Amino acid sequence: MLVAGAGADALGPVRSLLNAGAVVRVVGHAPVDSLVDLAERGQIGLERRSPSPVDLGAAHLVVVADPALDEAVRAWCVELGIPLVGSRRSEAPSPVRRQGSVVLVGGGPGNPGLITVAGLAAVRGADVVVTDRLAPLAVLDEAPAHAEVIDVAKIPRGAFTSQERINELLVEHARAGKRVVRLKGGDPFVFGRGGEEWQACVEAGLPVEVIPGVSSALSGPALAGVPLTHRTLTQGFTVVSGHLPPGDPGSTLDWGALARSGTTLVVLMGIATLPAITAELVAQGMTATTPAVTVMEAGLPGQRSVTGTVADIARLGEEAAVRAPAVTVIGQVAGLSLQSPAAPAPPPRDASSASG
Ligand code: SAH
Repeated sequence: MLVAGAGADALGPVRSLLNAGAVVRVVGHAPVDSLVDLAERGQIGLERRSPSPVDLGAAHLVVVADPALDEAVRAWCVELGIPLVGSRRSEAPSPVRRQGSVVLVGGGPGNPGLITVAGLAAVRGADVVVTDRLAPLAVLDEAPAHAEVIDVAKIPRGAFTSQERINELLVEHARAGKRVVRLKGGDPFVFGRGGEEWQACVEAGLPVEVIPGVSSALSGPALAGVPLTHRTLTQGFTVVSGHLPPGDPGSTLDWGALARSGTTLVVLMGIATLPAITAELVAQGMTATTPAVTVMEAGLPGQRSVTGTVADIARLGEEAAVRAPAVTVIGQVAGLSLQSPAAPAPPPRDASSASG
């Protein structure tokens, strides 16, 4: 599938096509950060130039995701007989609003089915959607055709838009009378800096609202068949950020207390620091055979889990090339991988075909 254009309007179609299992090639100038990230992770082909009729000729379907390319690409597709779709639902423009507003929407872990009904309704009513790479990008296809999509991806140790700039964007657009949706991964108030965005809106005197989302802290393990609590195994769970390793001057976590808490430990943003975190937990008294599981890209086609113990999960994850976004669960429940019974066996074939 060829996506013509590499701006933020390409994000929805690219993610939807990937979710459907398509091989996706994006051709366009100045790609947004979330597309660069997908290309660096080997999930899409990305060429930073204008699409040509040759590109189109090699595609089964073309999505035009840049209004500047629309006319030329449309004409080539007609000439070559290749099916073409636009990037969004077209719809009558929304009535002019006098007062702008901001809605912080928790989008869930990445699968478009895991946003809430209220979150989806907000996206459908948006004039501007400010998104980043962990949001369920396929949901952008649901934004009205007139809506502007802005990518403010923050890639670990890579490109990023500063939080101050993100706050400014929300305020600027809402002040211009727009209904702004800040579409975020998981829940906006769980390591999402949603509280800061909320404060920036309040300081600017703008109405702001939050629509909670399904945090990856809960849904990542669940999608991998790991319950965070289980009667007889644990009576609670603790969610921490692993972005700073134990011993870092900026860290405020008591790893000794965590090692002895008896609750399931869920670590977000912890892939780079997992060797240090797990070593510290064991050094602080956690039994080395405590089960652990890392779930990567939960809810997306790239979902994978690696299971081990607190002592070897970091090494096993590295060997399996596990990368962010991933959540690690440490505790007895990580040894429980709930599986659905296998699908019923297909009916037996008759004797003549079985012998062939
Ligand atoms: N507000 C988000 C968390 C943002 S911090 C939430 O509630 O889910 C970003 C971290 O979330 C990532 O480093 C990773 O640890 C986790 N994460 C987000 N999406 C994920 C996914 N689809 N699969 C696994 N982990 C994910």
